[in-house]
Amino acid sequence: MSNINIDNPRQEIEEAIAAGDLSKLLKVNGMLHGHFCPFSAMGVKAAARAVRELGVKSTGMEEAVAIVETNNCFSDGVQLVTGCSFGNNALIYRDFGKTAFTLARRNGDAVRISVRANRVMEERSPEATQLFERVIVERSGSESDKKRLSELWTELSFRVLELPDDEVFNIKKVTVEIPAYARIFASVKCSVCGENVMEPRVRMKDGKPVCIPCSGQEYYQLAGDGISLLSPSRKEG
Ligand SMILES: [Zn+2]
Ligand SMILES: [Zn+2]
Repeated sequence: MSNINIDNPRQEIEEAIAAGDLSKLLKVNGMLHGHFCPFSAMGVKAAARAVRELGVKSTGMEEAVAIVETNNCFSDGVQLVTGCSFGNNALIYRDFGKTAFTLARRNGDAVRISVRANRVMEERSPEATQLFERVIVERSGSESDKKRLSELWTELSFRVLELPDDEVFNIKKVTVEIPAYARIFASVKCSVCGENVMEPRVRMKDGKPVCIPCSGQEYYQLAGDGISLLSPSRKEG
């Protein structure tokens, strides 16, 4: 791994954004995302464009906020390049199922970028389309199918980076209302399992504070198919 500057761990990413070195950003994103695919490439490309347009930097302290509208591969590129992540409270997830995101400064100045899917589909080879059906949709591809798809996807990902932004994206300046800085809540000990719980998630059972799993109440879960409300009867292990 390359040398990380302890004073600014995002220095290399910032330099690559400033230099327009999208292929470097995509390679680094591979560390997070695990593979190269057209949608993560578009996330990297869209995010680099938005960061440059707004001139924002992230030290993970909510300097800017990214609002993603999908939990597909696109959003990993957005997180890596904007520095707005699930864990640093600068990522907002709206469960719209659209390959789009908005980057906003704290004053509400923002840019929304959505993907024009058709252009990317045109770039896809018929071979990649067929393999995608077999390997990803039907989950029935052979090992050599998987390997070939990964090669084609990697090739296509780096090609997508070269396309003109305006052919791949719709880009619009917008103004958004962003939430206040994330509040720091007290922790409360669950009276059943003894684990600490962020105060607004505490439930009361028989007059005692309990965590959601111990309360037996419904809860929201973000998984591959978006946000859904689960009932505790489907509790695992
Ligand atoms: Zn992917
Ligand atoms: Zn508990």
